[in-house]
Amino acid sequence: MKIALLGYGRMGKTIEQIAIKRGHTIVLTVDKEDTQYDITKTDVAIDFSIPAVAFKNISNCINHNVPVISGTTGWLDDYDKAVDLCTQKNGAFIYASNFSLGVNIFFELNKNLAKMLSALKQYDVSMEEVHHTQKLDAPSGTAISLANDIIEVHPEYNKWALETEADATISIISKRIEDVPGTHVVNYKSEVDTISIEHTAHNRQDFALGAVIAAEWLIGKTGVFTMNDVLDL
Ligand code: NAD
Repeated sequence: MKIALLGYGRMGKTIEQIAIKRGHTIVLTVDKEDTQYDITKTDVAIDFSIPAVAFKNISNCINHNVPVISGTTGWLDDYDKAVDLCTQKNGAFIYASNFSLGVNIFFELNKNLAKMLSALKQYDVSMEEVHHTQKLDAPSGTAISLANDIIEVHPEYNKWALETEADATISIISKRIEDVPGTHVVNYKSEVDTISIEHTAHNRQDFALGAVIAAEWLIGKTGVFTMNDVLDL
């Protein structure tokens, strides 16, 4: 597979290593100084850039008929526009707030736990996420996905907010600590006990592997997909 990397920072470089190990070729890397480039000679593009340019990168790929994977977080106000464009152009697109295979299992665990505890009013849900200090958005895209999945099945909650005690709101604490690749904890606290589930990434390899697996899976398909489709969850 000929791959374009849109964003050549920590994730872009890790994806490059994994992709080469899996027999693929990186034919284009695009970073902030690269304003003119030809995306058409690639089989698939993988965007791990910054929130301000993610939608531009994704729509450029779709407009040139290049399947695109995006892991950039913090741009989701434009997600519906990307879906509409992809549908209109018969393109191929996957966004995931987290490409880690383990986190996608964790998402399912979170949904199941939320369903099980939704009838038990004594438990208050809260969340904590920890990332490295260079992360631009807070809370993390993964924490937002976890919160939205709980809201979908839990009648006591209808929104999330950073560090809040507001009614019907899942409180998310975001911590930024040097060198932490990503930790997410979901807590259900009652007066007598706490039930917690936690995912801790040890490095960026798992996100990168998931993104490359998603790119391999997307080739030859049209539509808008998620990691649940890729992993058949
Ligand atoms: P990073 O800061 O190391 O890399 C981002 C790169 O984008 C930088 O090199 C920056 O110069 C570049 N960039 C800036 N403007 C650009 C432009 N116009 N076009 C192309 N590139 C441009 O950050 P990172 O750790 O590699 O993370 C990148 C994104 O991926 C963030 O949004 C982060 O939250 C997200 N992320 C997602 C997952 C996931 O699994 N979905 C995992 C890790 C990180």
